[in-house]
Amino acid sequence: MKVTIVGHWGGYPGPDGATSCYLVEKDDFTLVIDMGSGALGKLQTYKHVLDIDAVILSHYHHDHVADIGVFQYARLVHSYLRGVENILPIYGHIEDKSSFNSLTHDFTSGVAYDPTKELTIGPFQIRFLRTKHPVPCFGMRITDGESDFVYTADTAYQEEWINFAQGAHMLLADCNFYAHQDATKAGHMTSEEGAIIAQKAHVNDLILSHLPQYGDQEQLVKEASEHFSGMIHLAHEGFIWHP
Ligand code: ZN
Repeated sequence: MKVTIVGHWGGYPGPDGATSCYLVEKDDFTLVIDMGSGALGKLQTYKHVLDIDAVILSHYHHDHVADIGVFQYARLVHSYLRGVENILPIYGHIEDKSSFNSLTHDFTSGVAYDPTKELTIGPFQIRFLRTKHPVPCFGMRITDGESDFVYTADTAYQEEWINFAQGAHMLLADCNFYAHQDATKAGHMTSEEGAIIAQKAHVNDLILSHLPQYGDQEQLVKEASEHFSGMIHLAHEGFIWHP
């Protein structure tokens, strides 16, 4: 399995950047997790839009789904050009009906996931954890049978993450706030909180993502390292993680 960071900003993209978007690949299968603002432009530096096999969305905040509409147009254009008719599945939850319905377009189809059940997409098995966020949002544990990682999506700190992420090879954590800030009210986590989960869950690697546009990002790593003894990476565009 290979995970590529396409977009890592929280809330809105920094200059020439993109918000949440991650590529997960195994053999010839490509899954995209979330498709935030600016993601489609970046995504095409790694993959042709027709070479994406599935998309899965954690929730419907703009910084996670802003580019879904234009991605649907891109699929439409290239499907016509290449004369292909396959419909791309976009997996999402159905606790927001109108957002879910917008996932279906000429060459894409919204597919509801049941967060209480394990989901198989291509070579990946996915389990879900409801996060603590102002709107319904689901984190994911994704495995290819050999290795696995946990994506917290957007969440305030909750104990449940420790069990959910137990023994994972990597934790891709919401790190929208610095240690001295209160992230809970906004439904996000600090550098410290992500690191505490990583440590208690005994994960190998921690990637800090959904990053703030202000302050010194290296400070986030410093703060996390006071609570987590494993490898810590600061998310950046094009960063590739292998187990
Ligand atoms: Zn959100």
